[in-house]
Amino acid sequence: MKPLVIANWKCNPVTTTEAKRLFNSVKEGLKNIKDVEVVICPPFIYLLALKANSHKAIKFGGQNCFFEKGPFTGEISPQMLKNLGCQYVILGHSERRALGESDEMINKKIKAVLKEGLKPILCIGEKDQEFKTKEIKNQLRGALSIIKISDLENLIIAYEPVWAIGTKNPCDFKDAKKANSSIREILAEFFGESMAKNILVLYGGSLNSEIAAGYIKESKMDGLLVGGASLDAEEFVKLVKKVARALIPSP
Ligand code: PEP
Repeated sequence: MKPLVIANWKCNPVTTTEAKRLFNSVKEGLKNIKDVEVVICPPFIYLLALKANSHKAIKFGGQNCFFEKGPFTGEISPQMLKNLGCQYVILGHSERRALGESDEMINKKIKAVLKEGLKPILCIGEKDQEFKTKEIKNQLRGALSIIKISDLENLIIAYEPVWAIGTKNPCDFKDAKKANSSIREILAEFFGESMAKNILVLYGGSLNSEIAAGYIKESKMDGLLVGGASLDAEEFVKLVKKVARALIPSP
């Protein structure tokens, strides 16, 4: 399985021209990359413009969605994201949880996204700088309540310790590895070992090109969710290339 590197542009950049410029530089820089699956999650208003100028190797995702369509001012549905060319949707990001999004809402969103055949990227992570299995288990239990076993192959978990997001204070490789194992144990307890092993687990939090590959090689993560560093095309391209190089077995 190729490692998955997801760019979360958050609420950036401010104009379509800048979004196109950033995207074109990333696209150009990654045109020969085959061993890493790259997903760009821009603000949804840019999706059409970027998709029109893309190539097959780059996939797209949304940063959020709502669980219903109809009279919900300001919301966007999974179906709309799908029609704009998305295959993935980030859900439950800590920046959205901070705005009041509950595990119950995240659960409804995950179900709505899966129903549309899209892949939800469920963000979980502890608030204080200490991994607490109970906190993570509660987040997973709440968000994944009554999910169809057959949908699990489309589920992606992003372990994003809240204290590591946008702080230049990433989780170290050893702690990320421990968190990865704990998350896998919880998933196995919920869904059984054989189903749980198909779920991808990513790391996110203050990533940069110098450290990114370590989370794949040492922490055994299946991929990365990149915030700030994905807004600098040169840095993001370097990061993806280092991940690709990390997969080449040493002689
Ligand atoms: C994120 O917001 O998902 C994230 C990982 O941000 P950053 O890389 O900036 O810490």
